[in-house]
Amino acid sequence: MILDSKIYDLLQPKQFAALLLAWSRQNVRDLPWKADRDPYKIWLSEIILQQTRVQQGMPYYLRFIKTYPDIHTLASASENQIIKSWEGLGYYTRARNLHKAAKIVSDQYNGIFPQKYTDLLALPGIGPYSAAAIASFAYDEAVPVIDGNVLRVIARLLGSELPIDTQAGKNLIQTYVEAAILEAQPSLFNQAIMDFGATHCKPIAPLCDQCPFAEKCVARLQRKTALIPIKKQKIKKTLRHVVYLEFYIAEKYTLLQRQNTDDIWKGMYLFPVLAAANNDLVTAVKKMIFELFGENLAFNIHKALEKPLKQILTHRVIYADFYQVYMKTKPQKINKNFNLVERVKIQNFAMPKILTNYLKLINH
Ligand code: SF4
Repeated sequence: MILDSKIYDLLQPKQFAALLLAWSRQNVRDLPWKADRDPYKIWLSEIILQQTRVQQGMPYYLRFIKTYPDIHTLASASENQIIKSWEGLGYYTRARNLHKAAKIVSDQYNGIFPQKYTDLLALPGIGPYSAAAIASFAYDEAVPVIDGNVLRVIARLLGSELPIDTQAGKNLIQTYVEAAILEAQPSLFNQAIMDFGATHCKPIAPLCDQCPFAEKCVARLQRKTALIPIKKQKIKKTLRHVVYLEFYIAEKYTLLQRQNTDDIWKGMYLFPVLAAANNDLVTAVKKMIFELFGENLAFNIHKALEKPLKQILTHRVIYADFYQVYMKTKPQKINKNFNLVERVKIQNFAMPKILTNYLKLINH
């Protein structure tokens, strides 16, 4: 619900745009991609920064630009190379879509990004937010970026108690920013509102005392900045406990399995995995060895880490125990879903964070 505009004199979109741009001129945030109007660089930065903080994403952005200086280089790299470059950023669907979109732009658009918001939206991995960012920053199309920062700023400004994860809550904010962006240069407006949300109207402890909107901000006037924005749904996370087996075969090899199923780790490589519900681990490993190699081979097993490692994903929390399985002889046959990999080459394979953390801990 928005408060009655007769009680609170709501800030009009035109005034909002003017005050925001004035704030922006005084509070320039230096980011390496800001100076650039190259859609390739803007696109890269936007995809990297989806669900990633600027400090964490910055080194990845700089490395990507260096390794893949243009869209054709990115398009012609292998999927494993891209996922490897992405390793540690999480949400690997982004990396796979980045690669797919690069191929489309390289092959079908001759390497030149489409200019219109609606055409950009058709590319894999480019949602309304990224399309708006590219269309406005590179081509000055008047489409507002609407991310968590923008939803928070405008919900507070208007005192909106409509949950921002409902269509009604989003529509209200979209209508407001669509009106405001028409009053300014689109690229400057979008950059300013993103910067303002990230550095000034922060989720916790917003800087209300130095805010240009302080006198009109309904959440502040109502002392509700800690309550707004309101969210309807909280994502429930499921717990998953697994056991990874790191094989040491003939002192030289290990086993990795490429994930082909359509899940978050598609295209990445994992150690063979067992459900942790197995009470009798040795029997479970014997059975797995038979499935892997088609024969009963002798092995030794020991626990590699005292405590399980943990990885938190959007919908899941994973606890993983790690065991090392030693086999003296190299098997004749290997299940076709697994790769026999020289241990010294493990680093070349893209792996989820929980496995790279494990490898760091045991000093690979
Ligand atoms: S007054 Fe506070 S809550 Fe309102 S827009 Fe400014 S920083 Fe955000």
